[in-house]
Amino acid sequence: MALSRQLDLNAPASDFEWNRWATNKSLMFVWRAMEERIPTTTALKNRGLNIPDVTCGICGAAEETATHILIQCNFAKRTWEAVADWLHIPLLNTEGDIKDLLVELKELQRCKNEKRAIHAVAIQTMWILWKNRNGKIFSNKQDDVQRIMMEIKEASYQGVKTRSKFRLVSRQEWWDFNLSM
Ligand SMILES: [Zn+2]
Repeated sequence: MALSRQLDLNAPASDFEWNRWATNKSLMFVWRAMEERIPTTTALKNRGLNIPDVTCGICGAAEETATHILIQCNFAKRTWEAVADWLHIPLLNTEGDIKDLLVELKELQRCKNEKRAIHAVAIQTMWILWKNRNGKIFSNKQDDVQRIMMEIKEASYQGVKTRSKFRLVSRQEWWDFNLSM
């Protein structure tokens, strides 16, 4: 009983999909975020820090958790809409959690490499949403969705250029997400 519970607790780690087109830093971040192990105000409060207000600093409409900041916040929803539009995929469900979103992407009817590219984009998107959140919290600086999209495209393009075997993908092809992989 105790052992099976322990195995169960370890489950998210083993089914987390690694992707060498994304940086280790962003992958580690998403893996931790899936388990609410990133320093959101709610997580810090749960760890005993004296935090009077755990409301999301971006929308002000809900408690700040990893799922909220990266998926369910209005700003995140608008970003995922723009990402889906760019990738030519159907609108993503942003009512669930990080795992739900990654599963949805995994089930897309695309070729293996295109799915790997889409997965890398999703990892990058969450990392950049978190950096944007930090900018807002620590320096009251927030980018708009358009600016965030430019960052996502640029960072994921660098990943494909430097870490995949598709080094010849042009910037234009990546920006149009018109790939022959
Ligand atoms: Zn929010």
